[in-house]
Amino acid sequence: MSTVPTTREGWHELASGLAFRTRPFIDGRFVDAVGGRVFDTINPATGTVLAQVAECDHDDVDAAVAAARRAFEDGRWASRHPRRRKQVLRRLAERVREHAVELALLETLDMGKPIRDAHGVDITLVERTFEWYAEAVDKLYGETAPTGDDVLATITREPIGVVGAVVPWNFPLMMAAWKLAPALAMGNSVVLKPAEQSPLSALRLAELAVEAGLPEGVLSVVPGYGPTAGKALGLHPDVDLLTFTGSAEIAKRFMEYSGQSNLKHVAHECGGKSPNIVLADAPDLDAAAEAAAEGIFFNQGEVCMCGSRLIVEASIRDELLERIAEHARARQPGDPLDPETRLGAMVDREQMERVLGYIEAGQQEGAELRVGGQRARADSGGYYIEPTVFSGVSNDMRIAREEIFGPVLATITVADADEAVTVANDSIYGLAAAVWTRDMSRAHRIARELRTGLVWVNCFNDDDITVPFGGYKQSGNARDKSLHALDKYAQIKTTWFKF
Ligand code: NAD
Ligand code: MN
Repeated sequence: MSTVPTTREGWHELASGLAFRTRPFIDGRFVDAVGGRVFDTINPATGTVLAQVAECDHDDVDAAVAAARRAFEDGRWASRHPRRRKQVLRRLAERVREHAVELALLETLDMGKPIRDAHGVDITLVERTFEWYAEAVDKLYGETAPTGDDVLATITREPIGVVGAVVPWNFPLMMAAWKLAPALAMGNSVVLKPAEQSPLSALRLAELAVEAGLPEGVLSVVPGYGPTAGKALGLHPDVDLLTFTGSAEIAKRFMEYSGQSNLKHVAHECGGKSPNIVLADAPDLDAAAEAAAEGIFFNQGEVCMCGSRLIVEASIRDELLERIAEHARARQPGDPLDPETRLGAMVDREQMERVLGYIEAGQQEGAELRVGGQRARADSGGYYIEPTVFSGVSNDMRIAREEIFGPVLATITVADADEAVTVANDSIYGLAAAVWTRDMSRAHRIARELRTGLVWVNCFNDDDITVPFGGYKQSGNARDKSLHALDKYAQIKTTWFKF
């Protein structure tokens, strides 16, 4: 399956012949779930059942953690020469490349994103993530401490042990890769629980990893629900680190699970309400409008760093909004398997209704609905929402404070740059922010004042595996990507040699 279809019909034809892995992958093979229960995973483009997937619970998580522990303790992966771990992870990147069409289809069918993004963005970045951490494995050095000369003190990294990973549905395989690649590179064993909305691609990846030479037990995948399988992983006394992406609400649960069990480390990446500040001296209003639209409509707005608050100086507000409205109208939702489609379906009915609820709340609180606001393509049976733009929003409205996770832009007008920064920072979140200005000293000052883990100047959403990703405040306590991500998957050991 290596040729990339160029038509809607071509993608549909491949989709109709696609096979699904639906059982947990534990200790190197697909097995039956202990309880024998299954759950439906839905294709949100049509509202129909795509597959029935085994529902893992406590006992399955137990088996996966036990396999991970055995694999870790006997050193089949952790003690392997770094160069050989590199070879396996590089082969996994190659397997992802060879299966890019299949993996992209699994993503699109399971969670509704446009195939052009699933193939061109998600799977491309999954491949690059494995490749990048593969290349890093044998280039990491330890340290020696500046002690007196009767002592040699070395500072070395060791894998932390058994890692539990719980990920969301918005970028199912990419969020998994951001955890798996650095965790495996460091020599850990991992038990991954994908989101119940989108379990299919992770199950296929586990199989590809073993084909690439990853030893049995080092990676297991346990599909299932959060309050059962996810919680079992969070509470497990033999998991050393729980790494999570999802809502702040569930991140707090994982910290509680840790306190109730073994004080496992908890690394979390949560949501955001990212401000995109456009000042009157923005160098290029067309570019700002296009980036603002892409920043909120990409992936149906189901993006933790999406630019959901547009903060604009009054003098350019109408001009900017007009151009954004044009982009919004040009981006009507369509069949995710059509390569022309740029806005797909919301992940499920619940998420669609949540987003429509926010659109209603915005109107009730007095914001002005400029574009969109309706469900679309209802006769397809799928869960589509029009690109939606509000103006006249004040920062205390719910649509400015709460993460909507949909294609809904809230525009807040400010008098000047100082007010823009005050509004931007007035949020429980602090994931990302952008500022558009041609004054570089002002850009530097504002970038420093913004309480976010990521700041863009005169762009939005630009990204690369080489830079850390993560937030301040309730957007999380850790960083994915870059060499910094490796820190959380390692213990730091001091060894003190006295002469
Ligand atoms: P969520 O936080 O509920 O789910 C994320 C993961 O946590 C899933 O795998 C889920 O099964 C698991 N989980 C849920 N409840 C759990 C529990 N009690 N114990 C252990 N694990 C549990 O996110 P969601 O339901 O997919 O979406 C809700 C909101 O979360 C979204 O609307 C959005 O605001 C936010 N979100 C953020 C991101 C992100 O990338 N930061 C991604 C998805 C969702
Ligand atoms: Mn699904």
